[in-house]
Amino acid sequence: SLKGKTAIITGSNSGIGLGVAWEIARSGANVVLNSFTDRDEDHALAAEIAKETGVEARYIKADMSKGDECRALIEQAGVCDVLVNNAGIQHVAPIDEFPVDKWDAIIAINMNSAFHTTAAALPMMRKAGWGRVVNIASAHGLTASPFKAAYVAAKHGVVGMTKTVALETAEEPITCNAICPGYVLTPLVEAQIPDTMEKYNMGREEVIKKVMLERQPSREFATVEQLGGTVAFLCSDAAKQITGTTISVDGGWTAL
Ligand code: NAD
Repeated sequence: SLKGKTAIITGSNSGIGLGVAWEIARSGANVVLNSFTDRDEDHALAAEIAKETGVEARYIKADMSKGDECRALIEQAGVCDVLVNNAGIQHVAPIDEFPVDKWDAIIAINMNSAFHTTAAALPMMRKAGWGRVVNIASAHGLTASPFKAAYVAAKHGVVGMTKTVALETAEEPITCNAICPGYVLTPLVEAQIPDTMEKYNMGREEVIKKVMLERQPSREFATVEQLGGTVAFLCSDAAKQITGTTISVDGGWTAL
């Protein structure tokens, strides 16, 4: 059980981050949710987790595209036993047409934020005598697809940084690993299904298996619960000697 520990999950007012927050809270850890907005519904998500699981949960606004706000998130939380670097965005374009502002935003949010949060969190983990850094990378941290230059570069960068942080903490009770999901069924992905069904004149199952999961041999999405469970595993005693590596949750994508 992670009772008494505190987990900070960046980019966690939707999708994988929110799913991870729920699973970690069910494991008994207090959770800090984050995104760049500061709406009532953001704070309501934390209140719902607290109510359902009995842990302490709060929401802290911080923009992960800004280094000082990444560090401020950790400082404001005050304690960080588990750091899950999850915030991320995507943009798809050929490299010679790739908008510079999109490139900069993807590198900042998907990669640089993990540098800043990890730098701020490690001293807290050292003081507490225990720590887990889990970076949500991607199958695109290990392989590439066309038109995703910034995303693939950032995710490969995160995998590289994961290895370095693991070496710098190797003799301490701290581990750092990356999870590499394939296609995950998040609300964002779910929302694309009706349009794709119409475009290809296919049923839901056919669109999922033939179009969306073309590269995922299992022909099934990974779920946010499975990703939360993988984070919880990396926080367990069984994972004490697992550091500096990647765990693929991709239905066989990277085995191809
Ligand atoms: P999502 O859009 O549902 O979640 C992204 C989260 O990041 C949101 O909470 C959003 O508010 C937050 N975010 C975006 N910009 C931010 C900023 N500037 N500051 C703070 N928070 C910010 O998407 P998701 O699918 O849940 O993605 C989560 C992570 O998982 C990303 O790093 C993504 O690259 C990775 N991933 C997703 C998939 C997939 O198939 N969905 C596959 C592999 C990896």
